[in-house]
Amino acid sequence: MTTSPFVKLDGVAKRWNGQLGVEGITLDIPEGSFTALLGPSGCGKSTTLRLLAGLELPDEGKILIDTKDVTTSAASDRNLSMVFQSYALFPHLSVAENVVFGLKVRRVPKKERLEKLHRALEITGLLGLEDRKPGELSGGQRQRVALARAIVAGQRLCLMDEPLSNLDAKLRNAVRKDIKKLQRELGITVVYVTHDQTEAMSMADTVVLMKDGHIQQVGSPEDLYSRPNNTFVAEFVGAPP
Ligand code: ADP
Ligand code: MG
Repeated sequence: MTTSPFVKLDGVAKRWNGQLGVEGITLDIPEGSFTALLGPSGCGKSTTLRLLAGLELPDEGKILIDTKDVTTSAASDRNLSMVFQSYALFPHLSVAENVVFGLKVRRVPKKERLEKLHRALEITGLLGLEDRKPGELSGGQRQRVALARAIVAGQRLCLMDEPLSNLDAKLRNAVRKDIKKLQRELGITVVYVTHDQTEAMSMADTVVLMKDGHIQQVGSPEDLYSRPNNTFVAEFVGAPP
């Protein structure tokens, strides 16, 4: 018996007036997995994520989420949450208000909002900070608020684009662990964009290494390290020659 993948990209391509974003992106992502899109700047990681999110529409190919063809669906119909490197928090709202903002928009009842808020703050280690404004928080705390906001949305798919790149090395390590922990605890599917091979290799079950808009290799960190498809892969993951 084969189970269909939770997320499927099939021959996806995106161009802007002849400028290549990505091409021939074919990828199956199982539910509950942690997939890293890895590669140097400009290789098409964010474009792939934005196509998944519905922030861009592909010129070619198909995108399926939970067996539903969402190739041309609006972003709001895709049942996913996103975390970006810029936290995109509302500066005038408190931590709590920022976290439950989307729930309020969706008219989730107050009791349920408060329960979800508490759980999200607990998981992200923000309990006690609910009344602070973003300006009164450290960079790591702000990124945790963005994570908490993604968690309360309760989506099974979470897309993250370089969520740690604004943090210093020590904080990056701490928040990296938080992200792994909440992904495991909640059993959500994470697609995670990074140019940092250490981050990808330490966090992901599956690494998708990209170059110039094309996938070079898909595999476990061990696969890429021990059985690189080509010299680019070997050099990028720092495997011995
Ligand atoms: P990465 O996230 O891996 O750094 P991107 O996906 O942002 O790379 O970009 C991939 C390629 O697509 C780059 O050459 C970039 O210049 C191009 N690109 C991305 N977005 C646009 C856009 N809106 N218009 C034109 N070109 C774009
Ligand atoms: Mg990018």
